[in-house]
Amino acid sequence: MTDLFDAPNPPRLAVVGTEAQMPINRIFCVGRNYAKHAAELGNEVQRDAPFYFTKSHHAVVKSGDTAPYAPGTVDYHHEIELVVAIGKGGFRIIAADAMAHVLGFCVGLDMTRRDLQQSNRTRGLPWDTAKDVEGSCILAPLTRNFSPDGQRIHLNINGQIRQDASLSELIWSLPEIIAHLSTLYTLQPGDLIMTGTPAGVSAVRPGDVLEGGIEGLAPLNTTIGQAP
Ligand code: MN
Repeated sequence: MTDLFDAPNPPRLAVVGTEAQMPINRIFCVGRNYAKHAAELGNEVQRDAPFYFTKSHHAVVKSGDTAPYAPGTVDYHHEIELVVAIGKGGFRIIAADAMAHVLGFCVGLDMTRRDLQQSNRTRGLPWDTAKDVEGSCILAPLTRNFSPDGQRIHLNINGQIRQDASLSELIWSLPEIIAHLSTLYTLQPGDLIMTGTPAGVSAVRPGDVLEGGIEGLAPLNTTIGQAP
C-alpha cells in the first residue's frame, strides 16, 4: 500500500541538554487558570472543574522562528504560559501520581484571535477558529529538570513588560489538571498541556519582538511576521 500523498511528520520539541527531540502528540490548553486574567476578559472562573480547548500540529512554531500574524483578526493576542509535556501516558491518573507522568516543561505562547473568541463566546459558538490558529503555538525547548514552585512567569514586547506573574497564581494545579484531563482523554507520551495565561494579555503588531520566560526554563523569543 502506498499513500496518495506525503503526510507531515509531527513537529518536534528540542530537549535541553540532549540531542534527542520530543515528537509532539496532542496540544491541550486550559482556559481561565489565573483569576486576574479571567477578570480582565470579563469572565468568571470555573470553580467546578477546569475546561479545555486544543491546538493542532499546524499551530506549532519553534522559539527563535518568526510567528505569522494570523489572517482574519485585527486583535491578535499573546498569552504566555507554562507548558507541561507528558512522558508516560495514562487514563484516570490520580493526582498523587500525576507528576510521575510528566516528561518536562517549557515556555509557550498561546496566540489568540481575541476578536473572534469574544464574538464566538457571546454567540455561544466554538473557539476553534480563535485558538487553533496556524502558527499560534510558539514553543521554547523542553527542560526536564524543573519543579513548578511559584516561579516568575513574564512576557516582554519590544523590551516592555506586558505580563508578569507567579506560577503560584495558577487556580488548578498541575496534578489537578493532569488528573482531570485524564478522565476525558487517555493521555499519551508527547501530549502537551498549556496551563493558561496570567493577566496582561494584549494585541501584537507585525514586527513586534516577543520575549517570554519562566525562571528555571529555557526562554522563548519570536518576532511577529507581516499580516497576510
Ligand atoms: Mn491560553
